[in-house]
Parts: sequence; structure tokens; C-alpha cells
Amino acid sequence: MNGTQERTEAVLTRLGALRTGHFRLTSGQHSDRYMQCAALFEHPEESAELCGALARLFGDERIDVVAGPALGGVIMAYEVARALGVRNVFAERENGRMTLRRGFHVKPGERVLVVEDVVTTGGSVKEVVELLRAAGAVVVGVGSVVDRSGGTADFGVPFRPLMAMEAQRWEEADCPLCRDGVAVVKPGSRQV
Ligand code: ZN
Repeated sequence: MNGTQERTEAVLTRLGALRTGHFRLTSGQHSDRYMQCAALFEHPEESAELCGALARLFGDERIDVVAGPALGGVIMAYEVARALGVRNVFAERENGRMTLRRGFHVKPGERVLVVEDVVTTGGSVKEVVELLRAAGAVVVGVGSVVDRSGGTADFGVPFRPLMAMEAQRWEEADCPLCRDGVAVVKPGSRQV
């Protein structure tokens, strides 16, 4: 990825969006890395830089619209759309289903790029892809700041993340960092 991975990792680390240490995740598992992409979008200048880099990865795709799932994809879709000079919409859940509300729409044949800040299982992104296809749009690709799917995310269209995040995860009982007596941090709490 010719330096994009390194540059993205450096920016996210500097902003505290990507951290290395000993973390207790929401799932209860422990990990040696933690990602909170909101810490990127807290900073408009760096957001513009990374979203601009992502836009360039799709620069030849003649995109008409950038779409993202709420909440993680809202600011990102806006920023990528601005870099490409195209429209931006976001999808959100209504009665459990991803949908375009607020008068957002895509026209049949429009070429849409779907973006999400962090792709883990890619479930929300898949729903947005299906929603757009049902509306007759052409989904030309999926972009993300971080791919933490371990390369397993498959949307049936080109998927281009700025960086792949490798993280170890353990059940608490098996955690080598606990065994070494490293203090565990619960991200998002005040101790961080
Ligand atoms: Zn631990």
C-alpha cells in the first residue's frame, strides 16, 4: 500500500485513535491494541488528509455519490465526498433496517462509493450496499480508514482500506498481558 498504511497508522496513533497497550474491550476480551476512530474525526485537518487519501484510491471510478452507514460513516462519507467533489448521503436504521431517510436518494445508474470508518465484520456496509443496489445504483467500491476484518471482509466489489489493523485478542483467563501484571485499561473511561 506504498506508505499509506504507515502514514495512516502514524496519524491515528498521534491523535490517540489507535493505541497500543492492554485493553479490556466491550466484549470482555482483552487486546493489545485499541481503535477509536472518533478521535480522528475530532480533528478536521487530519480527517481531510486521510479521507482525501481514500478518495484518491477511487479517483478513477467516476463516482457520483459517497454513502456511509450511520454513525461511523457519516462524517467520513461527507469528507470523502468533499474530496471527490460529489454528493454525500448516509444510511441509518429505521425499525432495524438500513434505509435512506431525510430525503436522501440515489438515482438508478448512479455510481456510489460506500465508506465506513472501521470495517470489522462489515455487516452494516453490506446492508448499505444492498440498499443502494435495490435503488438501482451501481456500487463501485467500499473504502474504510481501517480494516480489522483480518482480510475476510468481502463486499463483492473492490474494498480498499487505508490500513489493516492487526490486533491480538484473548479471553481474560488466557491474557498474557494480565499474566505479566500489566495494568488493564477500559477504553472510553476516564482513566484513559
Ligand atoms: Zn489482560
